[in-house]
Amino acid sequence: MLFYGKDLTDNVIGRSTTYTGDSTKAYSIAQMVDGPGTYDATPNGKSALIAHELGHNFAANHNEAFKWMEGSTQVYSTMTGGWVTDSVMRCRFSSNDGVHGNSTCNNIQHVQSTKTTVAGFQ
Ligand SMILES: [Zn+2]
Repeated sequence: MLFYGKDLTDNVIGRSTTYTGDSTKAYSIAQMVDGPGTYDATPNGKSALIAHELGHNFAANHNEAFKWMEGSTQVYSTMTGGWVTDSVMRCRFSSNDGVHGNSTCNNIQHVQSTKTTVAGFQ
């Protein structure tokens, strides 16, 4: 994981690959400074972005992101594709608990199923 101190181009704030055992696909990069879009690099925003990019390393994906209400605020799981705003992004993977996800929005299952592969990186 590279914590990048400059603005990436084209409103991109991070990049990563899913690690499958191939050492050429074992990286993440996360922008740690404010960008021109809705990413403001707040402490919450940076944490959610780091969790997002690491999630990709563990095969979590945008299609299984989820959103839920916290009081009157709509909030978004960390794998949401396309940044909303720092304040509503959460460092939480969707899970099949009926609140933060369901059987088709269940990114934590990917983290659980790939953790041994990622732990075996050399
Ligand atoms: Zn992503």
